[in-house]
Amino acid sequence: MTQKPRTCHLKGIAASAGVGIGKVWILENSKITVRPEKIDDSEVENHLAKFERAVGFLTEEYSELKNIAEADAAAIIEAQLLILNDPELHLSIHQKIEQENDSVVYAIFSSFNEYIKIIEASGSEWLNDRTIDVVSIRDQLIEAAEDKKRELDVSDGAVVFASEISPTVMVKLSQIKIEGIVMRRGGLTSHAVILCQSLGIPCIVGVEWRPLNINNGANVVLDGSSGEIVVWPDPVEVNSYRERERMHLMHVEQGMKIAVKPHKTKCGSEFSLRANVEFLEELPRIKAYGAKGVGLLRTETILFQKKEFNVEDQVEYYSSVVDASGEEAVTVRLFDAGGDKLLDEVEEDANPFLGWRGVRMLLDKSDLLRRQIEAIYRLSGLYPKRIKMLIPMISCIDEIDKVKHHCSIVREQLAESNIPFDAEMAIGIMVEVPSIALMAEMAAAKADFFSIGTNDLTQYTLAVDRGNEKISSLFEPLHPAIWKLIKMTKNGADKHGIPVSVCGEMASRPAAAACLLGMGIKDLSMTTNAILSVKSLLCNHTLDEMEQLSRRVNRAETPGEIHALFDAFQRE
Ligand code: PEP
Ligand code: MG
Repeated sequence: MTQKPRTCHLKGIAASAGVGIGKVWILENSKITVRPEKIDDSEVENHLAKFERAVGFLTEEYSELKNIAEADAAAIIEAQLLILNDPELHLSIHQKIEQENDSVVYAIFSSFNEYIKIIEASGSEWLNDRTIDVVSIRDQLIEAAEDKKRELDVSDGAVVFASEISPTVMVKLSQIKIEGIVMRRGGLTSHAVILCQSLGIPCIVGVEWRPLNINNGANVVLDGSSGEIVVWPDPVEVNSYRERERMHLMHVEQGMKIAVKPHKTKCGSEFSLRANVEFLEELPRIKAYGAKGVGLLRTETILFQKKEFNVEDQVEYYSSVVDASGEEAVTVRLFDAGGDKLLDEVEEDANPFLGWRGVRMLLDKSDLLRRQIEAIYRLSGLYPKRIKMLIPMISCIDEIDKVKHHCSIVREQLAESNIPFDAEMAIGIMVEVPSIALMAEMAAAKADFFSIGTNDLTQYTLAVDRGNEKISSLFEPLHPAIWKLIKMTKNGADKHGIPVSVCGEMASRPAAAACLLGMGIKDLSMTTNAILSVKSLLCNHTLDEMEQLSRRVNRAETPGEIHALFDAFQRE
């Protein structure tokens, strides 16, 4: 008698909504290890030619994928092509082959690894997500140089279990009707997750599935909204997942109706939900989800995609975001890079999150700062009254004065050159370091607006590294201390009559958004995927109810009490 396979329940981080019912298909990411290998002078030409062939082969393959991909996926593959053809990487590989007599495989491996180290040292979560892409390009290039080629033999109905997935593999997978993806790694900002969201593929990350010996072909169901996975589910569970699937599809349909509704609470009070934008591939979602423009444009992406960082490139890049925002405003944040690593001046920062980051780096790199300020002012001339500038990582009041001094010099230069700009463009600051929340009243005298960054505010207040998986349970944006700092910030802003918004992830939790509205913060910016669920809750409650919720939250002593209040509010 064959034994019935054992049912196994797993839980991970919900990354892309939707329900999948299918068969396990394990994507092996065989780890490539390469030992140093020296070649004779006579082989140098041959190895250089192998490299060029491999680049040509992959460029062609990526370009073909780009042509068949949707617009957002095509933009991601375009970024892959830029890395693949990065002149500095090519120079390094050539030098290693020609001058150090390294084999082509080792030259690719070591040059890419140096590049990856630079990215990892930046300490930024989204940049670390990008290393998955670079590792994948490295390995594909090595395989191509060795004339090996792996094919994907996945079929319709598969639920892909992988360690991590590169964008090019994701695009190949999107051509097959897969039911879902389960990944060990890959943060919520990884390209694989972004693509899953835009393609509507359910995805769960942070699942350590390898020790469970799950077999290829096992029956599996997953819910990308709750992070639940069941391998070998019993028939009752399969039925319940079918029901969840039906509900999900209904919500998607209803959600699209919510996108066109006015931003008003049940009692008619207005609020604004704006988009946090990091990648150009997110732009179509600004209008699709009915966002009121962009409340936070993270500009660090430019540093990753373009090594040359001139004013014209920036204006063009920012303009594409403004164009995608209809008639609404766009808040451009100055670079919040985690150090100088991306600027080719590698220095080890022992503790990057407490180090040379955001405005600290910008004030030391006044050329870079001035070029970005100039680009934003030029943008304000092209789109009058629609552009705001936001300064990241302010921890001392005088940093605001210093940046504003650079702004005034740029304004003078533009005026002298008769270049149009908006002299009244608002200059605001991120409130994400506790020192500034504590001194909000004084900071409000210097800034035109506040944008509260709850991600960093949480990590700096609770002493919890936001990127460290081992302590992720301690990363608690709903901690009462964070609500106290938000309240202080709002009170300080009110003393000087400046607007306050929240752009950290907290705003994307529907009940937290309701509580913020109850505190009088009606301008929220969030990942576009969250807009519809937040809007749905806000439209279904009165301001009175939200004020009551915020009063209760103010009295809470533990995060648990706040979670309970939010759960009850959402159930009402
Ligand atoms: C924040 O810290 O909350 C924020 C929005 O900025 P980032 O996540 O880019 O650091
Ligand atoms: Mg921040």
